[in-house]
Amino acid sequence: MPDVHVPDRLTRHVAAGHPWLYADAVPAVQGARTGDFVTLVGQGRRPLGAALFDEGSPIALRVVSTRRDERPGPALWRQRIESAWRLRQATLDLSATDAFRLLHGEGDRLPGVVVDMYARTAVLKLDTPAWLPHLRDLTGALVDVVDPLAVYFKGLSGQRGQAHADDAPERPRVLVGDAPPPTILAREHGMRLLVDVRRGQKTGLFLDQRENRRLIRQVARGREVLNLFSYTGGFSLAAALGGATRVVSVDLARAAVDAARDNFVANDLDPRPHGFVAADAFDYLAERAGAGETFDLVIVDPPSFAPNQRSVRAALAAYTRLNTAALRQVRPGGLFASASCSSHVPMDMFLQSLSEAARAARRPLRLLEVRGEPPDHPTPLHFPEGRYLKFALLLAE
Ligand code: SAH
Repeated sequence: MPDVHVPDRLTRHVAAGHPWLYADAVPAVQGARTGDFVTLVGQGRRPLGAALFDEGSPIALRVVSTRRDERPGPALWRQRIESAWRLRQATLDLSATDAFRLLHGEGDRLPGVVVDMYARTAVLKLDTPAWLPHLRDLTGALVDVVDPLAVYFKGLSGQRGQAHADDAPERPRVLVGDAPPPTILAREHGMRLLVDVRRGQKTGLFLDQRENRRLIRQVARGREVLNLFSYTGGFSLAAALGGATRVVSVDLARAAVDAARDNFVANDLDPRPHGFVAADAFDYLAERAGAGETFDLVIVDPPSFAPNQRSVRAALAAYTRLNTAALRQVRPGGLFASASCSSHVPMDMFLQSLSEAARAARRPLRLLEVRGEPPDHPTPLHFPEGRYLKFALLLAE
């Protein structure tokens, strides 16, 4: 493996578990191509670890090991997947939940590799083409450890909806077993969720909100609920199963709203008292504010508004505007749940933007609960960039 010299100021970050080295922070990598492994060396050629090289990404190197006794390859992947699987067995109630993240890239020390389980179907997604030459080894290790019914490759992050040549290595496809059915019936804390792993967003569900959906289930009794950015209705279902009298789900994607209704039926809930609206959430709020409709619980779980550092200011303004409008729909004494999944907006900034929304809406808020990622989305402590999820449950005056 070619050597890459890590500048002194970065060696302690590598040692502390930071999994990335940016192209502009390390010397040009010589004699390697995307998908090759390199040896990271410090002063005096002291070995620091091994990394996967990506020629085309600002994240040039993803650290796969910082130990001398580890070598990149199938045996190491297997070891990583085994320890990830043990962590899930120790932290999840797998008798009531079979939709969970088995491998969370950086947090499971396979940076850039995500595997989500839906019932016994594994859905694999890569953040970088550098893993493509190793897809077969990764899949083999996955099959050895969890023995899934099928492994479906969802492609590279960010390539959604793209057309691919028939033999393109990044094309989504079945890697192992039979083609997954159009919908897989998965369970989350006993709640049934229909998952379309091929056409669904991400790998099919937003698994990171599982524990927050459970929290909503606990507080929803007797409430009228508005769920904005509802996708396939995860929070809506949780609320309805928790005893909400009426739940209105709003999402821009018609297919998601239809799937939300199907999910109600799959849980033996009569969809008729509930609302399923395909609309832009901002437009919906503008109209509802005019119509004076209010709720006892409003949930806001938008997509990331900040794809990069440059867009953070604009994103914060959008979060504040959205939360202000949503808060106006909360009845006095009602609950407000708000989330952000942008890694460029840290927790303090998120809470600050909620404060601004409270001020703008003249609705003082009390914080009942704040949360980050659940245990099946572990993050290296020395990798704040990995902590993308913020969720707050608040009481509105
Ligand atoms: N809360 C969901 C996940 C939400 S993901 C869950 O628990 O599963 C964000 C959703 O916002 C996506 O479904 C996307 O289709 C939707 N979306 C994006 N922009 C939107 C907009 N302007 N108005 C309404 N929905 C939007």
